[in-house]
Amino acid sequence: MAARPAFARHDLLTWPLVGPFLRWRFSRRFLQAVLLAVSALILFDGFLGPQQSPKNLATVTVWIHYRGLVVLALLLVGNLFCMACPFMLPREAARWLGRRLGLQRNVPRPLRSKWPAVILLALFFYLFELYDLWASPWLTAWVIATYFLTALVIDLFFRGAAFCKYVCPLGQFNFMAALASPGEIRVREAAVCTTCRTKDCIAGNRQTGQRGCELWLFQPGKVGNMDCTFCLDCVYACPHDNIGLLARLPTQELWSDPRRAGIGRLGRRLDVTALLVVLIFGAYLNAFGMIKPVYALEQWLAARLHTTAEAPVLLLIFGVGLGVVPPLLLATAGWLSRLASGRRESVRETAQYFILSLVPLGFGMWLAHYAFHFLTGALTLIPVTQSFLNDIGLPAGEPLWQLGPIVPADWLFPLQAFFLYLGTFGSLVAAFQLAVSRYRTRQVALRAFLPWAALTLVMLVAALWIMFQPMEMRGTIFLGL
Ligand code: SF4
Ligand code: SF4
Repeated sequence: MAARPAFARHDLLTWPLVGPFLRWRFSRRFLQAVLLAVSALILFDGFLGPQQSPKNLATVTVWIHYRGLVVLALLLVGNLFCMACPFMLPREAARWLGRRLGLQRNVPRPLRSKWPAVILLALFFYLFELYDLWASPWLTAWVIATYFLTALVIDLFFRGAAFCKYVCPLGQFNFMAALASPGEIRVREAAVCTTCRTKDCIAGNRQTGQRGCELWLFQPGKVGNMDCTFCLDCVYACPHDNIGLLARLPTQELWSDPRRAGIGRLGRRLDVTALLVVLIFGAYLNAFGMIKPVYALEQWLAARLHTTAEAPVLLLIFGVGLGVVPPLLLATAGWLSRLASGRRESVRETAQYFILSLVPLGFGMWLAHYAFHFLTGALTLIPVTQSFLNDIGLPAGEPLWQLGPIVPADWLFPLQAFFLYLGTFGSLVAAFQLAVSRYRTRQVALRAFLPWAALTLVMLVAALWIMFQPMEMRGTIFLGL
């Protein structure tokens, strides 16, 4: 690697300690190995440990800590989970084997889209509620094991980072949320790239054997965080040390919709729009699934459908929540926006363009929801770990089951509301900037922006209403909060 770059406050890769660590070529492997070891413990306890969810490492760490820490990292830096993803470590062996056996192929063109991930995400949200995954250590362990297996099989047969780019639901969540993050892997000086002959960031560095970006994100044309796993392969490959982890204004990449290397324009891709719909409106459904009114709604629907089974009732709720309400809301805002701008374009085009503005609010909703679980259950890790160690014969004392919350109960709603206001502010700014970058005059832009501002505020009210309801204390034993 080239000489250490000069310290720059806005570039994390130049910071003391953290910079040299991340620039060390094996830092990612190290982080992955740590999380792989943690995953092994989680799997062990999930399959063989106590099957009460608040007392098992699998349910507590996955549904409280993992989710809470992921959204925190996305809020403060960017896609750090993909950087340390444990699923990627065993797949290196599968890729090697696939190459040796001549099994590896390019992903067929019709499958090079977000549609597989869209289907898997919608299915996961549905199954999460149907089987109460948060309440079952055994099922949680199966979800993780299936994840490992799927990543292995896909990378055995397909070249590149097929699993990350087209399949992984967790990765798509991170890509979506990272659109609003304050950090981005990007070139330090564009002028250096124009004189660069080898383009190792994409082609790979022949001298060091470092591969280039497997997600097809060519640095000089890369815009923002979509599809970027923060793997740093491009950083290690670039012979000019011209790539950093740079700070930017949060949500900034949502202020326009330029052509992005390896992706195209987000607003022109129906699969990306579907992905954003599932992730933005899925945030509402996921939180709605744990408040009291959902039970009343389920009973009412069950009576109308003359059934006692939960599956068809939930299917109807998810079908309407993801397949009917979002298109209606987006089409209405798109139609009004087009009318206000007087521009000749289809409603679909307008809606696909402006849906980008709803990303910050969608992320704010996930943040508010996951923060609730994290803030009320973060310290449960201590007694659960004590209990786990005791179970495997390593005395760790009487588990301190009284531990759980890290903030007083009356801070919860104000904090959740703060995250929602933050998301709303980000969405309003993004919608206005998108309008300004699309229409010729500010007056037209303002008129086109108003329906999206109205939709954002309606969604804020819905989010506040959901968060205001008493929530199920999933994965904790502190029912008195
Ligand atoms: S990022 Fe590095 S390898 Fe890629 S084009 Fe620029 S200078 Fe060349
Ligand atoms: S641009 Fe590509 S190689 Fe660079 S960090 Fe992102 S995914 Fe990895």
